Amino acid sequence: MAHYLKSERDGGIVTLTLDNPDAAVNTVSPAWVDEMIAFFEDVKGDEGVTGVIVTSAKSGFMAGADLKFILDTPMTAADAFAFSQRATRMHRLIETCGKPVVAAIGGFALGGGYELALACTYRVVADDPKAVVGLPEVNVGLLPGSGGTQRLARMIGVEKASEVLLGGGSYAPLKALEIGLVDLVEPASSVIDAARAWLATNPDPVRPWDRKGFSLPESDGLLKQTTAGWFTMASARLRAKYGDNYPAPISILTCLFEGVQVPLDKGLLVESRHFARLIADPVSRNIIRTTFVNKGLAEKGARRPADVPPSKVARVGILGAGMMGAGIAYSAAKVGIEVVLLDTTMEAAERGKAYPAKLLAKQVERGQSSQDEADALLARIRATTDYADLAGVDLIVEAVFEDTAIKADVTRKAEAVTGAHALFASNTSTLPISQLAEAFSRPEDFIGLHFFSPVDKMALVEVIMGKRTSPAALARALDFVAQISKTPIVVNDSRGFYTSRVFQTFIHEGMELLREGVSPALIENGARQAGMPIGPLALLDEVTLTLPMIIVRQTEREDPSFRRPTSMVVAEKMVDELSRPGRSGGGGFYEYPEGGSKRLWPELATYFPVAAEQPDVEEVKQRILYIQAIETARCLEENVLLHPADGDIGSVLGWGFPTWTGGTLSLIDTVGLPTFVAECDRLAQQHGARFAPPQSLRDRAASGGSYLIG
Ligand code: NAD
Repeated sequence: MAHYLKSERDGGIVTLTLDNPDAAVNTVSPAWVDEMIAFFEDVKGDEGVTGVIVTSAKSGFMAGADLKFILDTPMTAADAFAFSQRATRMHRLIETCGKPVVAAIGGFALGGGYELALACTYRVVADDPKAVVGLPEVNVGLLPGSGGTQRLARMIGVEKASEVLLGGGSYAPLKALEIGLVDLVEPASSVIDAARAWLATNPDPVRPWDRKGFSLPESDGLLKQTTAGWFTMASARLRAKYGDNYPAPISILTCLFEGVQVPLDKGLLVESRHFARLIADPVSRNIIRTTFVNKGLAEKGARRPADVPPSKVARVGILGAGMMGAGIAYSAAKVGIEVVLLDTTMEAAERGKAYPAKLLAKQVERGQSSQDEADALLARIRATTDYADLAGVDLIVEAVFEDTAIKADVTRKAEAVTGAHALFASNTSTLPISQLAEAFSRPEDFIGLHFFSPVDKMALVEVIMGKRTSPAALARALDFVAQISKTPIVVNDSRGFYTSRVFQTFIHEGMELLREGVSPALIENGARQAGMPIGPLALLDEVTLTLPMIIVRQTEREDPSFRRPTSMVVAEKMVDELSRPGRSGGGGFYEYPEGGSKRLWPELATYFPVAAEQPDVEEVKQRILYIQAIETARCLEENVLLHPADGDIGSVLGWGFPTWTGGTLSLIDTVGLPTFVAECDRLAQQHGARFAPPQSLRDRAASGGSYLIG
């Protein structure tokens, strides 16, 4: 019995409605493919059928493959090839069934959903901004594996297809029409009528590439003569952008290049082979696990104590209208929360409010927001210096200067005017939450909400449990994070929490390499080749070299067992001797010529001589990634991190640990624990005890365990 499909016949026209009863969206699954094959076999053999309309009972037309299914289903390359070929055959059956088939697209058609539309003879899409089409597979390390690369190239040409496939974007109806991704845009209410009207014209069901003498669209005429040259150039550009870390973009390009030179059926085999290779490669699984599955679970409350009733913030008080306070105010007001934004002077408070105003003005200019929406959002933010205005707030977020005494002072003043039910959160980046909670009479209602800068762009919030924070406070904090559409991880209070602590190891390793005599260009390039968004020296220039110095000195004061990293001499020399604290201080490891682009400071070699023998770039990459992974394993051992998945999410979303690894702990799993431990022992011998793997990692390796994979 049909499970995913409903069909209705009206004369010669059959309307096929996609309706997955098990989920809110239609997704590609083996069982659905089987039903589709059976349906179109019938259509093919039924002489009475003159046309088919494919539509959906859901608000969306169809999403792509179920990524959770892909992650949870172990597939060898051979399995993945068969999986891809079965869906490919289904699409081929649709376009060779001898009847014209129209995709009537009322909502989004993405990935496998848009591949289905591509296999139809004609595509009508609703004139609705939500009815986007596209092939986003590249974003999760894959490629469209059931004909998407081949049909798109034949429909719109290789060059345009490569932009769509490599960009992985979603296209609104009119843009999609302009590029040629759809054939007609109609008001939502008349999509089906338009499909019917088109079928009434007795269209030829044979696709252009199945007709004699087919050639690629005209725009590619020039390209055809120079295809090899174009391909070489395009792959060089991709290599420069992704290095060897992301196999999907190069595979997509290869499918286009090889696939369009052979008949469609052969091209489809090429595509399936590449799809299989990508599925069997750990990179796509790493990306899917962290940025899709585990991120989604965290957002849906995986860490939320279940027995606490759901809560909602109607009014939030924000203390400190600086960079962070202003960003948090914007994020809250955006989802309808009333915001009281408090600072010491009206001028400072208004300056804070000016930040969302600036963001909104840009959005209005770009047509992303209407003036009315922008005005309404701004009207929800009240700038003030008066604590009495905080009366009735459900939540206070403190974001004043990073100073214990100032924070204690504002905490007391705020508590005096807020009711007994208000939750209190500090956005401190370094100060222990349990210590800050001492200024609050209800430490069980005190929690850390560590946002990242710029708040409007950065999705992560590190939620920090103080020693006495209650599960109810955690639940309320997570409800607020969900309300403002951010992604939470939950950690226990400790120096630097999780993200700042591991991030420090990255910048210190960069300085240590410099101290050892490794060429600064090799350090920066090695980090970027590993996939870090920016080299450690360039990053230090941005955050200032004084930052790690302050943290190290403070830790030394407070923790007698702490051993000063040898890399500190680099920061001290740069700041104390050479007065080069970073970009904001006029220069650091780089110099910033007026009107020109930054370049490594030529004098660096005078103070940090470059050794005659340089390490291989692979060694630099390994040190930079491994030091962060080891520190994460320590955080887990010390119960700072409570869940391995949070380690991955925090590293990728928090400080840009490369997505291809899946995050710091997925990296260890991907390398394999025994190999990782052996490599760390070697690095510890050569470069210092900071590389020594923690005991829990050794034990896990010895017992054949892992963190997230397997
Ligand atoms: P900022 O200097 O831009 O803003 C701090 C604001 O607090 C200023 O507007 C200041 O006038 C105000 N302020 C100071 N004393 C006050 C008082 N007694 N009462 C009311 N307002 C007062 O700093 P920021 O970058 O927004 O950082 C704020 C907090 O967030 C700090 O604890 C910081 O460690 C933390 N944080 C910063 C970042 C970042 O990247 N900047 C990231 C995460 C967390």
